[in-house]
Formats: sequence, structure tokens, C-alpha cells
Amino acid sequence: MRGPQWLDDGMPHIWLPYTQMKTVLPPLPAVSTSGCDIHLADGRILTDGIASWWTACHGYNHPHIRAAVSAQLSRMPHVMFGGLVHEPALMLAARLAEMLPGDLERVFFTDSGSVAVEVAIKIAIQYWINRGVARRNRLVAFKGGYHGDTLATMAVCDPEEGMHALFSGVLPQHYIVDLPHDDATFAALETFLSESGDGIAAILVEPLVQGAGGMLFHGPEVLRRLRLLADRYNILLVFDEIFTGFGRTGTMFACEQADVVPDIITLSKALTAGTMPLAATVTRAHVFEAFLSDNPLHALMHGPTFMANPLACACANASLDLFRTEPRLQQVARISEQMTHELEACRGLPNVRDVRVLGGVGVVELATIADMNRLKAALIALGVWVRPFRTIIYLTPAFVMRPDELSRLTSAIVRVIRDGAAG
Ligand SMILES: *Cc1c(COP(=O)(O)O)cnc(C)c1O
Repeated sequence: MRGPQWLDDGMPHIWLPYTQMKTVLPPLPAVSTSGCDIHLADGRILTDGIASWWTACHGYNHPHIRAAVSAQLSRMPHVMFGGLVHEPALMLAARLAEMLPGDLERVFFTDSGSVAVEVAIKIAIQYWINRGVARRNRLVAFKGGYHGDTLATMAVCDPEEGMHALFSGVLPQHYIVDLPHDDATFAALETFLSESGDGIAAILVEPLVQGAGGMLFHGPEVLRRLRLLADRYNILLVFDEIFTGFGRTGTMFACEQADVVPDIITLSKALTAGTMPLAATVTRAHVFEAFLSDNPLHALMHGPTFMANPLACACANASLDLFRTEPRLQQVARISEQMTHELEACRGLPNVRDVRVLGGVGVVELATIADMNRLKAALIALGVWVRPFRTIIYLTPAFVMRPDELSRLTSAIVRVIRDGAAG
């Protein structure tokens, strides 16, 4: 069956993400979305198991968000944020400060997660410069971590996935170490910090789940111990909650489960419920205060053209309304329970290494995925949009997903593994 004309006309000109364009299979033309469904040009409907890279937490086209965007669109789609402010951004900043723990209260808006992390890195390094502390300009980040695709964020990703070797000589040098998990590995990190700590600006970690690095989980005690070490060696602690923020791990923010307040937190992905690009870097009061000075060089010199876009801020405000007016965290708990129950059928099947669920993240880790294209095609043939990567098949559904829709996703996963489609 022929695709739409725009597909034929545009494909020779488009460059797709994370794709070897020489061997790429034709991508699926999407024409509309509704609820938890993606509608394709040929009439097929796929149940979305990953909420468009973990963003669409209320499902697609939620009427409350649509109404907010539409009202903002008629009033003021955008104005520059230099010298001007507006209600959607200031209201959102105040609401985020209210929701986040401790004195995480100063919000800098950007338009993508990578840039929010870049801003966090700049803030962390300049914090020490402004305070007159020399040479604290490196970060400690962790293997298995993912913080973005721009050059500065690649440098704090897992070295292999971040292609540090390919880009060596271009990437800034940071310390990428094993994420500690027990007394021995924490002792090793502490030894490292006691030797190199005076060159380190910040420790950067994705709390509870390392997402794009393979949906690897760690416990809240890891975060508590990182906080203790950061305090002991006088290092800032940065949590990248771009994936985990807004309910994904079962609480509004992952840091709540550890009862830890980082010095800087980054947010994006579900911030606008997947409707518009927006990100935020939020700092504690003491971090912000290091930038208050009579010296003009002490200001934060950063300002994306579209920062604090009013449409995006209106989406985010509407999304936060829904977390208040609808039982989202109860829904996450329900989804979590159902995924735990239904994905259990994968445990013990050939090729299955691990099955794990945390909040709205369900993961089946395989020993190998021999033919990724075959596996992806098998999932689509079953009417589900699930995107395995490396050796994992995972679900991060919208929190509003109905039990029957979620069962369609989990049974498709069980089925492709049983049929050996991944092997
Ligand atoms: C997705 C992601 C990023 C990067 O966000 P982009 O909007 O894709 O630039 C950074 N950190 C984490 C933890 C993420 O999941």
C-alpha cells in the first residue's frame, strides 16, 4: 500500500534520530493521536507503550491541555524573555518551587532536556568561580548514565553510549565512574573524592532510574549516601529528573523517595505532558545566591531564544492542574501493580535475564536481541508501539492508560519473547 504523498516527497530530505540512514527501514507515517493511541496514515492504530519518549503522561490530546494551549495561542504565542516576563512562566516557576522539596526555588527555563543539563553544568562550575574557589570545574557522573546529546552533555553520559572515544579531544573531560551500590563501592567513590574532590564542581546522577542508559534501577539509599558524600567533600549534587520527574517512579519526583534535596534539579520530558518542548533547571537558594554580585561577570550568561515560551508554559501549568484534579499517582500505582503482575509471565522464559518494575516503568531485560528490526516489526504487527533498545523491552505508558490497553502491551511483550522474535 502506498504511503501519503508527503512521505515520498519528504523522506529523501529528512535526517532521522539515532539512525543509520543507509539501512533504515521506512518509518511509520503518524497522522493523529488520541488517548493512548497513535493513528497511522494507512488506518492502523497502535497502542503507545512508551508515551512518546516518556512525555505524554496524561495521554495524547487531553482536553484540558488543548484548551490551555488554544487560549494562550490567541492571547500571546511567544515573546522574548529578555526584559519581558509573562504570567504562564512566572506562575509555572512559582508552582515548581512549591512542589519541589526543600529550597529548590529558582527556575531557569530552556527548551530541551540536554540544554537544561548544560545549564546545570554551567551553574555548577560558575558557582565555584563566583565564590572564588579555583579549579572546581569537573563533574562526577556515572556509567550507565544519560544526560543528553549535545557535546557538553555527551561528556557526562556513559563513555561508550556517549561515544567519548569517537569524539575524544572535543569533549570536555569529566570523571565517569561506577554508580556505587554498597559499602565497598561507596568506599571506592569516597577514596576518589578525597583525592580529587577539590577539582570537582558537582556529582550528577539520574535518581532511582538510569533511563536511556538501559532502565537500570538503584535504591533510594544510594541517593542518601551520595548526598552525604557531596556534603562531606563540599561538592554540589545535581539530580537529572528529566526522565523520572512528574510521577514516573511513583512519586511526583524521584528524590522524594530518598528524602534528599539536591542542589540543582533538571526537568523536562513530562513537564509539558509531551505537548510542547520545555525544560527547567531549578536551584536551591544558596546556589542562586552565589550569582548575586556587583561583578557583572558573575551573572549567568545564558538565554535561549525560545526560553519560557508561553505556549509551552501554558501546557506545563495545565499538566500540573491535572496532577491535582485527577488521581495520577494512584493511577501510576495501579499501572505499576498491573505491569508487575503481567510482565511476571516473562520471567523464566528463554533469553529473559531480568524483569523489573518501578512506578510507571516496566522492563524486561533479555540476554540478547539478535534481530532488532524483526522484533520491532513483530511488536507493530501486534498493534503496539514499543521501542526495544540494546537488550531491553520496556514500557512507560501514559498514567491514564486503561487496564485492557496495558494488557495489550504486556501480552504483546510476552508473546514476542515466547515466539522467539527477539532471539
Ligand atoms: C531525555 C533525557 C535528557 C535529554 O533531553 P532532551 O530533551 O532529549 O535533550 C537528559 N537527561 C535525561 C535523564 C533524559 O531522560
